[in-house]
Amino acid sequence: MLVYNSQNHRKQELEPIEPGKIRMYVCGPTVYDQIHIGNGRTFLSFDVIRRYLMYKGYEVTFAQNLTDVDDKIINRANEQGRTAAEVAEEFSDKFIEQMHRFGILDPDIRPRATREIEAMQGMIASLIEQGHAYAVPSGDVYFSVRSDHSYGVLSGRNLDQLRAGERVEVNDEKRDPFDFALWKAAKPGEPSWPSPWGEGRPGWHTECCAMIHRYLGTPIDIHGGGADLIFPHHENETAQAMCAWHAPLANVWMHAGMLQINEEKMSKSLGNFYTLKEVLDRYSANAVRILMLQTHYRAPLDFSFDRLDGAVSTLERLVSCVKNLRWAAEAAPQDGHLTEADRALGTEIDETYAEFTASMDDDFNTAGGLAAIFGLVTSSNKYLSEAAGTIETAVTLRAADALVELCGVLGIDLQQEMGKDEELPSELVSMAAEHAGYAGTSPSEAADALLDARQEARAAKNWGLADAIRDGIAALGLVVEDTAAGARLRMKKD
Ligand code: AMP
Ligand code: ZN
Repeated sequence: MLVYNSQNHRKQELEPIEPGKIRMYVCGPTVYDQIHIGNGRTFLSFDVIRRYLMYKGYEVTFAQNLTDVDDKIINRANEQGRTAAEVAEEFSDKFIEQMHRFGILDPDIRPRATREIEAMQGMIASLIEQGHAYAVPSGDVYFSVRSDHSYGVLSGRNLDQLRAGERVEVNDEKRDPFDFALWKAAKPGEPSWPSPWGEGRPGWHTECCAMIHRYLGTPIDIHGGGADLIFPHHENETAQAMCAWHAPLANVWMHAGMLQINEEKMSKSLGNFYTLKEVLDRYSANAVRILMLQTHYRAPLDFSFDRLDGAVSTLERLVSCVKNLRWAAEAAPQDGHLTEADRALGTEIDETYAEFTASMDDDFNTAGGLAAIFGLVTSSNKYLSEAAGTIETAVTLRAADALVELCGVLGIDLQQEMGKDEELPSELVSMAAEHAGYAGTSPSEAADALLDARQEARAAKNWGLADAIRDGIAALGLVVEDTAAGARLRMKKD
């Protein structure tokens, strides 16, 4: 399978360092606030990449850090009169909660910067020893970019261009304006740890590098993050690894494109953001996933609520197709006789798997993967309407299972969506007992019994009973939905 390596701007064959295994790392959030949906897009992209690698049979080890000490956290703590540790803990928990709501798999390893001080100090000491870093009188330690001949290779910049083009923090203690802090001397009131260079805290670029080395070993197969991290964060990460351990940090660097609003990058500083929480409070995680996966992970993604509403309808189309397939399969006689239409649907299913895999093997083209899935939705719907009466159970169920499975590879949980609709009110049970002689306890069986009873009442011109059932259903906020496979009750959407 092909993956795009940001380092050389080419798609290349994925060649795991250890056969059958993938070790990957994705830079995690700085935990000072709720994350926004732009951050969510990057984490989702790598969740899908990980899921697909697992689907392909790789044993994936996935690590992601929490940056739990940083200027932003310290500033937020000062504003709120709390400690930085309290702020970091609150937003680490909130981040993990939103990741779960979004259906993102937990990392196998989730190191936190504040718990990795020793590993970082070990790496810094080794960089100083090898002449790649220096401590200054204030107690800061800087990485010397000039000492690294490959500095700039990852992001395709060289230091001379950078010097001419970019403004950087002026600091008399640095030997080069692009030297970056590996260790920052403590300021009054800030969290700090003892070190050979005095009390202080680690710089941001240092943590990922030390954690990757400690937990995964270098180089790893895939290092990921948003495209805005290529420079300076990832450039600085890989510079440290090259100088400390004389090996690149990762074989493949992958970067997700920016989520934007009105063609502008979503960011906290611009104020044009929606938190993931507020979006998931209003929309199903599966619909947000569909919206995001309709765009290739490397391309910029234009977010709007109109597009998200579109994704809601798309999701509904998928869910009702699976329901109709299952519904029809259940009602069909099992005669084992295959018609032309049954065989054609079987072929469509096989082709859907092949198309899905071909798209995803091409640098995780999720838009192509979704197109394959929707091709099967179209053929399934056609089959259900054209083959009504001669529905074949096995192939119909196989189509439903294929949709559920392939969506699952993308982290779209159709089972969960179907569960939502099946939350029919329990009052249906007593209503069905009264009007349809139903003796069980399941609301969905009661719904079926009531619909049958209403059908029979109408056929028998028993309008009193038919109307009583109809009114009772409406009073519970339900609607009767007519599908190719018969009538069914569902909650009315506002
Ligand atoms: P941060 O907490 O700022 O380090 O961001 C966490 C992750 O979100 C990083 O991988 C960023 O590259 C990514 N990110 C930030 N803004 C966006 C955006 N607008 N679209 C996509 N990813 C983003
Ligand atoms: Zn990082």
